[in-house]
Amino acid sequence: MRSVIPDYLAEVLEDVRSDTSGEPAGYIPELAAAEPERLGAVFAMVDGAVYGAGDIDVEFTIQSISKPFTYALALSDRGFDPVLAKVGVEPSGEAFNEISLESDTGRPLNPMINAGAITTHSMAGSEDLSPAERVERVVHGLSAFAGRRLKMDEAVCASEMESAHRNLAIAYMLRSHDILTEDPRAVVDGYIRQCSVLVTARDLAMMAATLANRGVNPLTGEQVIRGPVVRQVLSVMATCGMYDAAGDWATQVGIPAKSGVAGGLIGALPGQIGIATFSPRLDPHGNSVRGVSLFERFSSDMGLHVMEVPAAARAVVRSNHVVGSGPDAIRVFQLQGGIRFAGAERVVREVLDTAPAEARVALDLTMVHSIDDVSRRMLLEVVRRLTLDGREVYLVDPESIIPDPDPGDGGRVTVIGDVEEAVSPPRTVVQGGGRSGEA
Ligand code: GLN
Repeated sequence: MRSVIPDYLAEVLEDVRSDTSGEPAGYIPELAAAEPERLGAVFAMVDGAVYGAGDIDVEFTIQSISKPFTYALALSDRGFDPVLAKVGVEPSGEAFNEISLESDTGRPLNPMINAGAITTHSMAGSEDLSPAERVERVVHGLSAFAGRRLKMDEAVCASEMESAHRNLAIAYMLRSHDILTEDPRAVVDGYIRQCSVLVTARDLAMMAATLANRGVNPLTGEQVIRGPVVRQVLSVMATCGMYDAAGDWATQVGIPAKSGVAGGLIGALPGQIGIATFSPRLDPHGNSVRGVSLFERFSSDMGLHVMEVPAAARAVVRSNHVVGSGPDAIRVFQLQGGIRFAGAERVVREVLDTAPAEARVALDLTMVHSIDDVSRRMLLEVVRRLTLDGREVYLVDPESIIPDPDPGDGGRVTVIGDVEEAVSPPRTVVQGGGRSGEA
């Protein structure tokens, strides 16, 4: 059987193909000459599965899609404070190449507009790098996100450099405010080289999937950036990634995204998917016309809007029942799914509302696939309080979803693999403050 996903993608591509509105970027002569009919879309899942349709292995220049990734490199290489001191995180509501800096400090408003991106380029790698070494740091970093060594399009690079008056003007402004501390020409040259890195839609989807996968490239398994950097980058993509169309995008599509003037567009949905599209004709904001349509379709067809919250919390308590009878009866709270704060709150309330009359209580985690830190602590606190109330508490946890559970002061829990085991002698008893050994 064929997967349904490539067929779906091919169908959606056909739906938007007839839209020939917009123009390829005109201000970079090499890009103006691009084949405008190209069209492709790729889904890269966080476990590395890739689905595509159309022109997914055709190379084009990454352009502004390099910006979130270079921002990530700067944050990783220099730390948050030095980068935030030079580049803000506020949406500008202006075009990508607007010469807009914060009036008092000269700080670019965010790293997605050119002023911010030129600055973050200068902060990739350590301070003492030469311009060529810095470019190498960036290309190496972008390649790690893509999972293969990327090359540069020298013709596009030379073409953009020849008409880079606006970016040079921005860089000289930044230099006058000491936001840039190096030769503005060299930094713009490096930034334009960064924008000229060649990628395919497949590469872009993998780069987006690396962001969606907490910074781990799904193909290579490499941890390219750490979790806090991923969160920062995705947040800025969500608020500033589509320039002066960011508000429309947030409401219509609702996926952290970034566009580039060569026609690429990426979206990264945390924990789920990296998406990339390629179609060179641009709207007046500089975003791909058919790319925007494709993302609108994907978001509504597949419910990908980040604000579309699943009704997971209510479903965390699968059942609340009693096994056995008499003094041996056990109250079992059977939990399921992924437990985060709202789910854990639901469990706490269920236990309180039930006020179990039984002397033995089990929290059954057999069907729980993940639990975050706060929820783990909340459940262990429930265990501790139940113990203090004089109950014998069991954690049914065959897959060690909570490894080495320590219910803290006065708490005591018996870990078992199956509720049935509570009837026979327990295996491992853990007392508050540490493991007390075999029972
Ligand atoms: N290299 C382009 C520029 O600086 C990138 C712009 C874009 O993709 N939006 O103008």
